[in-house]
Amino acid sequence: MTDAREVRTACPYCGVGCGVQARVAADGTVSVRGDPGHPANSGKLCSKGSALGETLGLDGRVLHPEIAGRRAGWDAALDLVARRFSETIARHGPDSVAFYVSGQLLTEDYYVANKLMKGFIGSANIDTNSRLCMASSVAGHKRAFGEDIVPGVYEDFEQADLVVLVGSNTAWCHPILYQRLLATRAERGTKIVVVDPRRTATAAECDLHLQLKPGTDVMLFNGLVAHLARCGAVDSAYVAAHTTGFDAALSLAAADAPSLKRVAETCDLDAADIAAFYDWFAATERTVTVYSQGVNQSAHGTDKVNAIINCHLATGRIGRPGMGPFSVTGQPNAMGGREVGGLANQLAAHMGFDDPSAPDRVGRFWHAPDIARRPGLKAVDMFEAASDGRIKALWVMGTNPAVSMPDAGKVRAALKACDFVVVSDVTRTDTSHFADVLLPAAAWGEKDGTVTNSERLISRQKSFLPLPGEVRPDWWIVSEAARRMGFAEAFDYAEPAAIFREHAALSAFENEGARLFDIGGLTDLTDAEYDALAPLHWPFPAGATGRTQRLLGDGRFPTADGRARFLPVRQEGAALPVDAAYPLVLNTGRLRDQWHTMTRTGRVPRLMANAPEPAVELNPVDAAALGIADGDLVRIESRYGGARAKAAASPGQRRGEAFLPMHWSGRFAANSAAGSLSAPITDPFSGQPELKHVPVRISRE
Ligand code: SF4
Repeated sequence: MTDAREVRTACPYCGVGCGVQARVAADGTVSVRGDPGHPANSGKLCSKGSALGETLGLDGRVLHPEIAGRRAGWDAALDLVARRFSETIARHGPDSVAFYVSGQLLTEDYYVANKLMKGFIGSANIDTNSRLCMASSVAGHKRAFGEDIVPGVYEDFEQADLVVLVGSNTAWCHPILYQRLLATRAERGTKIVVVDPRRTATAAECDLHLQLKPGTDVMLFNGLVAHLARCGAVDSAYVAAHTTGFDAALSLAAADAPSLKRVAETCDLDAADIAAFYDWFAATERTVTVYSQGVNQSAHGTDKVNAIINCHLATGRIGRPGMGPFSVTGQPNAMGGREVGGLANQLAAHMGFDDPSAPDRVGRFWHAPDIARRPGLKAVDMFEAASDGRIKALWVMGTNPAVSMPDAGKVRAALKACDFVVVSDVTRTDTSHFADVLLPAAAWGEKDGTVTNSERLISRQKSFLPLPGEVRPDWWIVSEAARRMGFAEAFDYAEPAAIFREHAALSAFENEGARLFDIGGLTDLTDAEYDALAPLHWPFPAGATGRTQRLLGDGRFPTADGRARFLPVRQEGAALPVDAAYPLVLNTGRLRDQWHTMTRTGRVPRLMANAPEPAVELNPVDAAALGIADGDLVRIESRYGGARAKAAASPGQRRGEAFLPMHWSGRFAANSAAGSLSAPITDPFSGQPELKHVPVRISRE
């Protein structure tokens, strides 16, 4: 019997990216605790993270490759995947195939999948479930800063005097970050403002809750920038030296939000509350504005992001201690996916198709035979294309679009109609039922690589368990398929360290300061150094020291003229307004103790205990008007589909609005998936779907 051993790794759930110490006992049982040495969490874990050891059983796991539902060998499965993809490309062109991947993949997995699709298949049809998470922040960053940059670090939460949380139930969705904020508030009296249509656990503890009408964030922040100008809080020297477009943005904001009264009417808020918020923001230099899915998951998400950034540019509060706009990502490696370029409108290593020289540069680095030269299909469009036959071969990696995509009923029909579907995943999911080829992927604790959290901190996620059955890591699966497609030399990876070194080298390739994403200082890591890599922030160019590093604080931006751009944005109406047939607005989001479609957290009784059944929250007055009592089984219907849930009367809901958790899937509660109700309406810049505002009707069953 071997001795117990302890491995330092990272939590696989949210974008906080906490460090975890996994202890494998001599009898093979695993216990976890927070890593006291990890800068994100200093030893703390939330309810989900602390239950990780209870999620490691093999129940429900995919342990062997399957073809048409029957067990097959790896060679047969991979030969079939390679042959069907190659034949489809030969017959219908590279844009007839697609990969739909996941923020659960490690950076190395993501890199290999992106390289195969964009460099060797020759299409940019690789998109990710991160499209549903933070694509609007990416688009907003690129519009304002010229590159997808989160300027701040978590320490800014602790150095701010005012923290504004917009569309973010931080207490439940980023719990350890929230605990850091509360701890520092107890010491320095940090003011917290929450902007959210729901009275969430986060809102319950703040100094001021702006419970605004859903979708009116642009109006609120246009009113703020106009107020900053009126009260002399604009940092004119900063604006003149480091930005462009202020006058146009201010002019539109002032026209859009000419008075406090107009803002109050549009946002359905008390004017005195808005005035208090505006005064606090104007007077508090150390202000951080945190935003998450309530901002991003919107048909106007990118404009919301830029409305927030405009206020920080106007005050020069970017990238300095305790100040800045701060996008917090939902997934553990949404940032890593952005870094490798794993979005259909990005290319690689923060190079995009908007730079005409980028495809040739990346092509040279990869020695790519057929580099993609234009953006591919974003998630919603990708499944639309699978539905109408343009996508004929689709590979879904580590995600469950059959329940998580908007208009999920149509997505299921698209998966059924698609000529050839490959699913590589850890467990059987609603999506794996549609797989022609099902491939067993390594899970947390078995796979090895890196992730990047919301503050650009790269951490190692390490294996401490043997691969069960015939399970393999995603990077290996994709590389083996690529080799069989004729690209053996470019995908001859022996281990994830080699992939990481190549990723680091690409970030620095012909960069010369053009892109801030540069981790060239990690290009020469030995395998042992990679194995022992301590968490570090990017950028990490050659010669870097690894200290905590904010970005953009010097007023220089990665745009052509080195200046940040104000974006003139206007408050728009709801993409799908309520009407007599569908009179309620349905919002969707997370529960404290669940993760995504519950494939992991649903296995843990103590995580299920708080919310064992799907429940739709309704304002008690609305519930009474509909003849619905607390606990009644109700039917929720939108123009896209239906779902069933228990009714939960909640005074935290505004009148006319309802909330359904996003987690429930066929495996845990048949016909309760929020995705079946959501609309495939997307933001025109980011392609991110509107998951927070769909008209529904609710009736007792
Ligand atoms: Fe994991 Fe997020 Fe909880 Fe940290 S806050 S333990 S990363 S789920």
